[in-house]
Amino acid sequence: MEDIPATPEPSFKQFNFHPLIAEGLDAIGFEKPTPIQAEIIPLILEGRDVIGCAQTGTGKTAAYLLPVLQRIMENPVEGINAIIIAPTRELALQIAQQLEGFSYFMDISSLPIYGGTDGIEWEQQKRALISGVDVVVATPGKLLSFLNMDIAPVANLQHLVLDEADRMLDMGFFDDIMRIISYLPEKRSTLLFSATMPPRIRELSKRILKNPGEVNIAISKPAEGILQMAYLVYDNQKILLLASLIKGRDLPSVLVFASTKLKVKSIARELKAKGFNVADIHSDLEQAEREKVLLQFRNRQIQILVATDVLSRGIDIENISLVINFDVPHDAEDYVHRSGRTARAEQTGIAITFINEEELYQFSRIEKLIEMEVRKQKPPAELGSAPDYNPRPFRSKPSRKPMRKGRR
Ligand code: AMP
Repeated sequence: MEDIPATPEPSFKQFNFHPLIAEGLDAIGFEKPTPIQAEIIPLILEGRDVIGCAQTGTGKTAAYLLPVLQRIMENPVEGINAIIIAPTRELALQIAQQLEGFSYFMDISSLPIYGGTDGIEWEQQKRALISGVDVVVATPGKLLSFLNMDIAPVANLQHLVLDEADRMLDMGFFDDIMRIISYLPEKRSTLLFSATMPPRIRELSKRILKNPGEVNIAISKPAEGILQMAYLVYDNQKILLLASLIKGRDLPSVLVFASTKLKVKSIARELKAKGFNVADIHSDLEQAEREKVLLQFRNRQIQILVATDVLSRGIDIENISLVINFDVPHDAEDYVHRSGRTARAEQTGIAITFINEEELYQFSRIEKLIEMEVRKQKPPAELGSAPDYNPRPFRSKPSRKPMRKGRR
């Protein structure tokens, strides 16, 4: 019988990376490129502008970091070579950490610049900028203040990356981004990543990208491998249900999302009172406190982390066994991001959403977005009777009116 030629497996070898990058990949343990990496890396290596529609969990960070590092090695410049802008300090820090991992064996320096740091750090960052760094990872506001003061040597800049661009626009950074760009040389490659492609992002990309290669990996669906479930509950049953789902189970890392910091604080308080090992994270915490909590959660010193949506975008914590949406996210895309915290890079995980009667309509919109109906169940009988659910088929055109309270 004739052998059928096998389709070649994607491999990092196909990019002919510098041996030091290959060494970094080995050390980090990446064996083969993810789909977005396979598509985007060659475009960036060619020096093309790129627009990448990709959610976190797809490997988008390495998709731009690796080729940018390669190009920096091929063509070092005086001053800053690449700037990566991210919407939040957490994401900026996480990108900087990945960058440090990849560039460990190389003579490439990087500097994270994000808000919320003290005067001493400001001085240190200023000095580091002046003495010269190759890559800057920054939040927009802080970067802009350095640019306004003419401290950042960007005249020879080659690469600008905008990560989570949709989030940056949501947070009102459009003007800051345009002002940052006004300081940068015209001739550069610009790489724009966004989880969604609303018209505003198209508009922005038209203004700042030149003949971009387009890669579309975001499907506005949680990554495969996530088991999604939902419970129909009354509000006063939610905390008991949460406790019953976690208690006595082998779940080293549980992430609970709630939409407001008041709720986040109250959930954490109630779980603590029940004897759980829990912490909360939200915008009331100082940057240093947030980092400490995240580190403890990563190191598994904390089992349950209760968070607002600040954390659902981009934050990369490995091996989260269970994500609980304590309420239905207002923005359907946030559901994808929250659930995406589990089952990272081809692992499996569980995402469970608690839905009360008022949230049914919003949840049906989410099901429409992710193009699947999530299995719904009632809480255990000992929690008492739960709301009934007469599901509207998720493909039907939703009525404009949200369901009223008490309607069954
Ligand atoms: P990102 O979408 O960039 O946030 O990446 C999601 C996760 O996938 C991170 O934990 C990365 O370290 C991991 N990752 C990225 N690329 C690869 C790869 N080629 N092989 C294995 N893991 C990867």
